[in-house]
Amino acid sequence: MAEFTYSVDADGVATITWDVPGKSMNVMSLQGFDELETHIDAALADEAVKGIVLTSGKKDFAGGMDLNIIARMKEDAGDDPARGLFGGIMKIHALLRKIERAGMDDKNKGGKPIAAALPGTALGIGLEIPLACHRIFAADNPKARIGLPEIMVGIFPGAGGTTRLVRKLGAMGASPFLLEGRLSAPAKARAAGLIDEVCDDPAAAARDWVLSGPNIVKPWDEKGYKMPGGAPYHPAGFMTFVGASAMVNGKTKGVYPAAKALLSAVYEGALVPFDTALKVEARWFTNVLMNPSSSAMIRSLFINKEALEKGAVRPADIPDLKVQKLGVIGAGMMGAGIALVSAQAGMEVVLLDQSQDAAEKGRAYTADYFDKGIKRGKATPEKKQEVLSRITATTDYGALSGVDLVIEAVFEDPAIKAEVTKKIEAEVGPDCIIATNTSTLPISGLATASERPGQFIGIHFFSPVEKMLLVEIIKGKATGDRAVAKALDYVRQIRKTPIVVNDARFFYANRCIIPYINEGIRMVGEGVAPALVENAAKLVGMPLGPLQLVDETSIDLGVKIAKATRAAMGDAYPDDAVDDVIFWLAGEGRMGRKSKAGFYTYDAAGKRTGLWEGLAAKYPPATSQPEVSEVQHRLLFAQVLEAVRALEDGVLMDIREGDVGAILGWGFAPWSGGPLSWLDMIGAARAVDLCDALTKRHGPRFTTPPLLREMAEKGETFYGRFAPDKAA
Ligand code: NAD
Repeated sequence: MAEFTYSVDADGVATITWDVPGKSMNVMSLQGFDELETHIDAALADEAVKGIVLTSGKKDFAGGMDLNIIARMKEDAGDDPARGLFGGIMKIHALLRKIERAGMDDKNKGGKPIAAALPGTALGIGLEIPLACHRIFAADNPKARIGLPEIMVGIFPGAGGTTRLVRKLGAMGASPFLLEGRLSAPAKARAAGLIDEVCDDPAAAARDWVLSGPNIVKPWDEKGYKMPGGAPYHPAGFMTFVGASAMVNGKTKGVYPAAKALLSAVYEGALVPFDTALKVEARWFTNVLMNPSSSAMIRSLFINKEALEKGAVRPADIPDLKVQKLGVIGAGMMGAGIALVSAQAGMEVVLLDQSQDAAEKGRAYTADYFDKGIKRGKATPEKKQEVLSRITATTDYGALSGVDLVIEAVFEDPAIKAEVTKKIEAEVGPDCIIATNTSTLPISGLATASERPGQFIGIHFFSPVEKMLLVEIIKGKATGDRAVAKALDYVRQIRKTPIVVNDARFFYANRCIIPYINEGIRMVGEGVAPALVENAAKLVGMPLGPLQLVDETSIDLGVKIAKATRAAMGDAYPDDAVDDVIFWLAGEGRMGRKSKAGFYTYDAAGKRTGLWEGLAAKYPPATSQPEVSEVQHRLLFAQVLEAVRALEDGVLMDIREGDVGAILGWGFAPWSGGPLSWLDMIGAARAVDLCDALTKRHGPRFTTPPLLREMAEKGETFYGRFAPDKAA
């Protein structure tokens, strides 16, 4: 079935309409490229055609390219995948350049105007194709998003978007769109020069324009073209490029190959003619696509994230269980956030606490959130009222009548949670699913308070709820499939990414992040310079060093978790050395950011000002400091070994969830694609060597898990062994 259709009207306007059958959003495929080229050729060859309008049959223009195309190009090239990629990319460049030249000769004579008419969102290749057209018209649709988000999944706009945008806006003007993947509504995109016109009926406006006999020569195809803001050897351009280099390296710490390659493509491309610049862009794009980091990022952050959001692990055969009315018990920090995101998604929410004041305070969180949005022009008073009107603050369990899901977020105390569960069950209907947001208490234990443990489940949010993208769904021993399906349908409603794991101490995310924090603290106790610990973590792509992270989550929470873990583990408890440090800090009243004192110092406004010098007095840095790589291996293996053990123990049931959950849940070095992708990248054999060496130097917490050793012996990878069809 055709993805593009073609028609010519009586005035000689050819309309090429992109409308991929059976999909709500156009996504570019190899077949799509071929069809587009056939129609462009037909229109350019037909003397009756005066101009061409490229538009979409859907409410949006396009969401981007099917990234599986990249894998296909590599595979089709057999043992020379780089050549296959480069060839495939140059073919796309040739098509877009054909659109841009539109039949003009060397002297820029002849040719037919081609306009793009965007009814809505245009992302990635969905903007790169319009950028090759002669004018871009977009509907005045504030919900539409226009931009080049490629950098977010570890690549960069490689179908001419980089080269064209830099020539259109200058390096400085293009940088937020290329380097940050900024997406804009049409009016803003026009103001920035990304597109040319915003109007009510873009297809009609585009049609009028192509018939008006416009100049269609792109500035960079004119003689004497000068890049806006100056090319690299121009004094102004020089400043831009030096600044951009510093900024990119400062932000990425050099671990994201795409950002570096993008800069190189822009810099080198700016020094040569347009067609050579496209070739330079294609070479750098090939370079990025051949880097294992980009394959791993695409796999985790694009393909698998989307698969999980679409219900890849949802029990089959259970009809849609969308939540209509939600109960939230406990209107504290978490409950208030859960009420906010749920009401935003259109659910009726009953927000219940012990006192009316506490319940109202939780509801006021939504009001505050919208007030901040209104100030920044991102929300309206009407929207605030609409969302607030869906939240009922109460102390009355009777208000739970008719709810189909309840999420409990009261104090972390099994007795209180048990009592609350009983009160909920006395009011709700027999089909209602009951979830707990506990972060440390086993779900199977809490379920014993329930009359219907099959309908009891963990839905674990991360803080702050409205910002964090991951939700961990935890199955207790008795949890049934309906509860899992309900939790997944709910998470889809609030547009977050779910992972489903089995019940075990700290579930998945906290199980892996706690050893990271502890390893950092342990090093301070050993005399490793705190700045080395923090910087080594950031240089390997962790968003926060372990000491900053514990300051953010609070030292007293760390103390509480340590005490509970010791109580549960008894003599096997391995973290005395860590406790020495944090118990001392807690004793000094340094509870982290909230008390404006922790591993770091803070000013009166709560802004971090530096590592606390008092640490050095108590734990003087040793005269001989470890290599950065040694610190990094300790910090990384502390996390990835827990991920492997979680897989061995059956807590993780799907390696995709292990990787996606790690990046979205605690920011595990996103360039790696996640802990299991990282192990695949370095290879099981090298991972075993590193673990064995770390075990010798630092003790049994680095013991190689049997699964990893077996994989090393057999030469296996995680994605090869556990998800052969999902290997990138
Ligand atoms: P919080 O102290 O901010 O809020 C708890 C709320 O529950 C309070 O408003 C309290 O009045 C209310 N409450 C206590 N007993 C109640 C009862 N019997 N009936 C009704 N309301 C009652 O705590 P929080 O940080 O929002 O955490 C709540 C839960 O979420 C805990 O189980 C915690 O482990 C979990 N959690 C917390 C975080 C986090 O970062 N804070 C993250 C994930 C999960």
